[in-house]
Amino acid sequence: MKRENILIPKPRSNFVSIQCEKCGAKTVVFSHTTRNISCSGCGEPLATSSGSKALITGKVLGVLDQ
Ligand SMILES: [Zn+2]
Repeated sequence: MKRENILIPKPRSNFVSIQCEKCGAKTVVFSHTTRNISCSGCGEPLATSSGSKALITGKVLGVLDQ
C-alpha cells in the first residue's frame, strides 16, 4: 500500500476555554459555534453566534488545539 502525502487543510476553527465572569465556571466551546452558549452554572451567556465566528462574551482562558 502506497502512502501519499495528502495535504489536509488546517481547520481555522478550534475550541476555546471560557470562564464565566459571574460564577467562575469553566466551559469549553467551539469557536465557530452556531449556537448560543450559556454558563452551565448560572446561565450567563458565554458565547453568541454572530455569523461565521462566535462572539465570546466570557473570559477566554485559552485555545485548545486538537
Ligand atoms: Zn456562570
